[in-house]
Amino acid sequence: MAGIYIHVPFCQSRCAYCDFYSTTLLTHRAMYVDTLCRELRHRLPELQGQKIETIYFGGGTPSTLTIDELSKILRCIKESATLNNSINQEITLEANPDDLKDEYVQGLLTLPINRISLGIQSFHNPTLRLVGRRHTAQEAIDAVLRLQQAGLTNISIDLIYGLPGETIDDWSYSLDQAISLGVKHISAYHLTYEEGTRLWRMKELGLAQPIDEEQSVLSFELLREKLLSAGYEHYEISNFAQPDYHSRHNSSYWQGTPYIGIGPGAHSYDGHTRRWNLSDLTAYLATPHGEDVPHEEEHLTEDEHYDERIITELRTSQGIDLNKLLTDLGERYHSYCLQCAAPYIHRGQLIHTHDNHLHLTPESILISDAVMRDLLW
Ligand code: SF4
Repeated sequence: MAGIYIHVPFCQSRCAYCDFYSTTLLTHRAMYVDTLCRELRHRLPELQGQKIETIYFGGGTPSTLTIDELSKILRCIKESATLNNSINQEITLEANPDDLKDEYVQGLLTLPINRISLGIQSFHNPTLRLVGRRHTAQEAIDAVLRLQQAGLTNISIDLIYGLPGETIDDWSYSLDQAISLGVKHISAYHLTYEEGTRLWRMKELGLAQPIDEEQSVLSFELLREKLLSAGYEHYEISNFAQPDYHSRHNSSYWQGTPYIGIGPGAHSYDGHTRRWNLSDLTAYLATPHGEDVPHEEEHLTEDEHYDERIITELRTSQGIDLNKLLTDLGERYHSYCLQCAAPYIHRGQLIHTHDNHLHLTPESILISDAVMRDLLW
């Protein structure tokens, strides 16, 4: 079982908080799709006949690609890979609400895409304007309804809390709106001020004020309270899903499943080596035919494998699978992990289950960074 991640490095405009790799030079799209297909043909043999269970178009804004361009990429994957044609195959497209006009949604129905991840971030119009989103709250709602009416009901939405100027009441309102839309999956992230972004500069100039600790905690508690009462499962620190609608692609990252990342800035993992394509569209497009695209890679040591396990598995509600850790990495790492976890287990901040898993409690999610640091090698 394996996955494919496709990085689409184009956005109509840049949002104030975002440090993902993308460009607004949409004129390069056709060349990008050609180069991407060449990279796919060159690299799909790395998966050595493993069945592709998930395909994820992320970005950037994948919905800046036309239906024909998406179709071309999917055809290219089909021609070169062993697809798992079971009904369970998950193909996700990240989209921005302003791209999902009627005609585009109808076009999506002609493709095998069966999951849409919508970047909405907030249903509070002044906040959307402040951070440079190109849609209003109503346009986001209309986009969700348009998808649902067309039969594309497996919808995830992204929300951000702690945006400047947003009050607890505004956040509460956004959560109520999200729940009322009946979407299957909600990802909710606490805003971070990333150096180099417009929002970071606004903070430096005193034009944007980070929320305080108390509001952070209240926002997270409200998030859990509202989504759990609405029937969502909190299955990863930032991810909530209705039963049977966990993101299979993202879950495979947390379980260490191999995947290849195609496109500038995309990361890959084969169980031993991490590889990342350089975040440079110009260099990517200049790759000579028959050659691999510009990238770097590192082979993980056993210690790094252990750290990787801690960071990814502790994020999930199932937690660290200590039996698997013992089988894969041996007694040394197993006992080191339990030894570091002991004070947290003693204080009730980590739960050691009967089936030998170690997971965070709802309260200790708020200190998860510190817990992870203490468990690392
Ligand atoms: S948040 Fe999404 S749309 Fe905005 S700049 Fe980042 S990748 Fe582009």
